[in-house]
Parts: sequence; C-alpha cells; structure tokens
Amino acid sequence: MLVLNATFEPINVCSVRRAVVLLLKAKAEMLEHGEYHLHSGSSTVPRPMVIRLVSYVRVPRDTHRRKITRRAVFARDDWTCQYCGSRGNLTVDHVIPRSKGGGSTWDNIVASCAPCNRRKGDSLPNQAGMVPKSTPRTPGPNVFIQVASPTIPRAWQQYLAF
Ligand SMILES: [Zn+2]
Repeated sequence: MLVLNATFEPINVCSVRRAVVLLLKAKAEMLEHGEYHLHSGSSTVPRPMVIRLVSYVRVPRDTHRRKITRRAVFARDDWTCQYCGSRGNLTVDHVIPRSKGGGSTWDNIVASCAPCNRRKGDSLPNQAGMVPKSTPRTPGPNVFIQVASPTIPRAWQQYLAF
C-alpha cells in the first residue's frame, strides 16, 4: 500500500494489514481502494490502495540514506549507465575507486554498464575521462517506493511524480 504523508508527499509502501490498522485507528484516511473487500471479524473494509496519514510525520533522512542496494542505485539512475547511457549489462561503479578512498555512499556510487566499469577500472574520473552524467546523491522516497514495488499500480500513479 502506498502511504502518503499528511502533505500528500509519498513516504513509503506498507502491507495491507498495516494499512488497515492505521485506518481502523483513524491514523490514516483512505484515498484509493481496490474493488474487492477485506473481512476482519464482523466488519468489511475495501482493500486499501493509497492511504494518507492524518498527522504529519517527519521522515528521518537516515532511514533512506542507509539502504544502498543495487536496485535502488539503478532506479535512481533510471537503469542507465551514467558514463555511456547504455541500459544493458548494468552493475554499480564507485566514482572514486575504493582503492583511492572512495566510500560506498550514495554520492559515490552510480549505475554503470560492465564495459564502462572495466574501462574505468581503478582510475579517478578525471584520469579516465569518465564523469557521471548526473552528480550522484541520496535519492528521494519515490525511488524506494519504486524498489519496494516493481509494478506500480495504476491507483498510485497520480500520487507519484516520477
Ligand atoms: Zn557504459
């Protein structure tokens, strides 16, 4: 289920069960629901698709910063090699190589195709003449929503500005 902040900004994806609990506790309101219903005890509720939290939640930046995964890097970089623009054979590249002190952080990792990754090797970007197309940075929540739910339901689309 897509969870929006009180400001309608997408925050994350949660399970149906969690969404129903938030709705029953009146901590969230239903914005979009599916066609079929869920039965819990004596009550019947439509299956939530998009919910919005009633009160504003401050989203800690750290929760996103920690989760560097290949999928999240690819999603942020639009599944495109940041050196040549190829969309095939993707891997991740340390812009400043680890051997030269580059860290495994959002601002130092980019999507790269395997040939570019090999060509760049252990060189610095200016030595190799290979500079990422866009400056890598920590992605916003949309990227993590995309990673958590590879198929974005139609009901979500109007709330996500990709
Ligand atoms: Zn490439």
